[in-house]
Amino acid sequence: MTSPPPPGRPRTALVTGGNRGIGLETCRRLAAAGLDVVLAARDRERGRAAAEQLARAGYPVRSEQLDVADAAGVRACAERLAADGVAVDVLVNNAGVYPTAPFFELDEATLGESLQVNLLGAFRTCQAFVPEMVRRGYGRVVNVSSGGGALTDNVPSPAAYGIAKAALNALTLVVSAAVPAAVKVNAVCPGWVRTGMGGPGAPLSVEQGADTVVWLALLPETGPTGGFFRDRRRIPW
Ligand code: NAP
Repeated sequence: MTSPPPPGRPRTALVTGGNRGIGLETCRRLAAAGLDVVLAARDRERGRAAAEQLARAGYPVRSEQLDVADAAGVRACAERLAADGVAVDVLVNNAGVYPTAPFFELDEATLGESLQVNLLGAFRTCQAFVPEMVRRGYGRVVNVSSGGGALTDNVPSPAAYGIAKAALNALTLVVSAAVPAAVKVNAVCPGWVRTGMGGPGAPLSVEQGADTVVWLALLPETGPTGGFFRDRRRIPW
């Protein structure tokens, strides 16, 4: 059983990079599950358009401008939500970039951009939203990682992406160890999914790619924390 929300309030989920791909499908599924959803997008207009698309399909969500590479922007977004009385119970760190340069062609700026989004984005949102989860005694954090970031059983992946996702996995363990068990912090590999990032040849649909993300976002009190999952099963770090 998922612990009940405070009387009169459904749980609220914030999904970064919610305007397309796995993020958009995660917003749709969480709204369908009855949560209030904040669809966060780095581009305000793309975020609004995605939120309108969901509203037309019967899933009204709130859209928020949030560039996770912008530390001040993350803090400002958290302040706007707090000022509006929106308490984030579920944080899905989905925003990601996929630089493809092989190691010996990789420049520092490109590695830096990958770290800014794939690692520091989640670092910033965790610092902004997790303390309140701890205070309220309920939270779910889902870091959308990749098998390309696994140190064992690793799927070969471009250098800047693999390094950043390995660090995101480390962040997952660090944050999970810093909070009580009522706040569950896990990482997920969605598999190879047909999105802008995964390309048209990927075997999985966005519905399949979002499945374990949503499962972790809705974990019951007895659910795991500090784990790395694919297809709803633990995988090696
Ligand atoms: P996608 O279709 O390329 O979407 C990426 C999302 O991240 C977009 O909404 C993008 O916003 C957003 N984003 C990028 N930089 C951002 C920033 N600085 N601030 C906020 N949002 C930002 O990719 P996807 O396949 O859905 O990927 C979602 C997650 O799954 C990523 O973390 C990715 O690494 C992971 N993943 C995907 C696959 C796969 O096969 N697709 C496999 C393993 C892991 P814009 O629209 O503004 O660009």
